[in-house]
This record gives sequence, structure tokens and C-alpha cells, in this order.
Amino acid sequence: MDWRREMVENLLTPVGDNKVSNSRDSSIHIVTDLYQTCINRKAIVRPPTIDNYLRVVYEAGEEVGLEMVTTGLVAKRLNVAQSTATVAIQRLAREGMLSYEAYYGAKLTNAGRKRAQQTVRKHRILESFLTRVLNLNWAETHAQAQFLEQGVCPWLLERIDEFLDHPSHCPHGDPIPQLDGSLPASETMALTECREGVGFVLCRVLGHNPNLLRYLNEMRLGIGAKGVVLANASEGGPMVVCLSGQRREICRQVACKLMIQSIDTASEIKQCAHLKKAKKTRKAGKQVAL
Ligand SMILES: [Zn+2]
Repeated sequence: MDWRREMVENLLTPVGDNKVSNSRDSSIHIVTDLYQTCINRKAIVRPPTIDNYLRVVYEAGEEVGLEMVTTGLVAKRLNVAQSTATVAIQRLAREGMLSYEAYYGAKLTNAGRKRAQQTVRKHRILESFLTRVLNLNWAETHAQAQFLEQGVCPWLLERIDEFLDHPSHCPHGDPIPQLDGSLPASETMALTECREGVGFVLCRVLGHNPNLLRYLNEMRLGIGAKGVVLANASEGGPMVVCLSGQRREICRQVACKLMIQSIDTASEIKQCAHLKKAKKTRKAGKQVAL
């Protein structure tokens, strides 16, 4: 469905109990402003701006823990040709926003990081707005927020932030930088680091791959979902987890993108029939068939 039509249709849907329960008038004003911005700018086909580039370098570095981000990765994330990304990155290097080394990639300078943080803030607040107020699926919000971040001015952004009661994380669990550049503390680890028997709550999904997000939706594995690790073989192979009483396999490429916090004493562990059965079988000295 055309997202603009969806935006208007969602506007007509009453705001539920679990949504932001602020004044409906304010909601309508904000949506109308955003909608008008989109129409005026026809930004759906606009090429990425330098702020889009800086955000992507920031996010890619944040996810993989590397400062140096290749032009190929930037091009892929922004859906542009590698030559286009290289030209933009070289320009940003001349402007002092990035330091660039041919064949290695680019990293943010202090000035570039400061500017990128403000775009990241804008992007993640918009994602929160699209998900919480307009009910957009978390697989769709990233692309739409990337487009909207080109047109939303600072005063509107701060108004949306206030309207949402200053969210600390985006719908994918990424921390939202504050105006002073600080980040909310969030200590997480990859699901692949979890040993067998550990309860967990999903806090963050790295990357914005819509296919991955849709797949997680099918598994009902959203932010805040709880589960228990049933098997995590060190030699590789898929991880086995229990989610809402269902035994599920998660391949390691996916599991390493799921950032969790452990919840050892959670009721999920006590209630997990799979884990109880596994423990019983192990006590009896039998092979565990998970
Ligand atoms: Zn996000």
C-alpha cells in the first residue's frame, strides 16, 4: 500500500490504549505537517543527502564496531551506485566531516560525528513516531524515516519528541542520541553469547534489513520479547530457543544481530516446558533431543 495513503488511513484510526495517548489534535497537526512536507518535497525519489551519508557511516560503525566503513557498505545501505557513494564520501572528506582512505573506507571526524548524531536522533525519533502513532510495521519505518529526515525541521522534530514523551530508543532498540550528543546507557550482548538455560529479553536488532525484521515478526520476536536458550552448540549450527512455549531454531547469522539482556530469574525459565524436560532427561543420563 502506498505509504502516504496508509498514513492518512492510520490518522482515521482511533489511538489505542497502548499507543501514545496525547491530544488527538496535536497528533493530527504533526501528521499533517509531515504529510505536507512529503508532498511538497516529492522526496520519495530524492537522492540521499550528505546527512543521510553521515548517518549511514555512523550506524554502520555502531553496528559492526568498526570506525572504518567501506564505500560499498554505504552504497548498499543508501541504495546508490558505489561510484556515487565514493564521490559523496570524498566531498564529505573535503568538508572535514569524514576522513577517507581509498580502498579502506571512511570514518567520521569529530565534526562529522556531531552532525551525524543529530541526524541519527532525527531518524530514530521519526521511526518511533511512525511506529507508535501511525502503526507502521518496524520493517517499514527505516526507509520512510530516511525519506522524512530530509524534510523535517528541528522545531517539528522537537515537537514530535515531546509528543512521544522523549523516547530513549527507536523501535529497533537503537539508542536515541540526546541533544547534547549523549546516549542512553544500554548494556546488551548478542544472543549467540548466551549459554543454555539462560532467559533473555530482546533489546535491540542490529541493522535494518526489512526481510530480517519481517522474519522476526513471524516468530513474534519483537523488542521486549522474552525467551530461554535451549541449545547453543559451540561448534555452530542454529541456536534453539523457547519463545512463548514454542521451540524455535534461529540461525547464527540472525542470532548475532539480536542484542539481548539476560533475565536468569525470570518466570519464563520456570514456565519453559522444553527446558524442564531437557533438565529431567539430562539428570536421568539420557541424550537430550532438543
Ligand atoms: Zn531504528
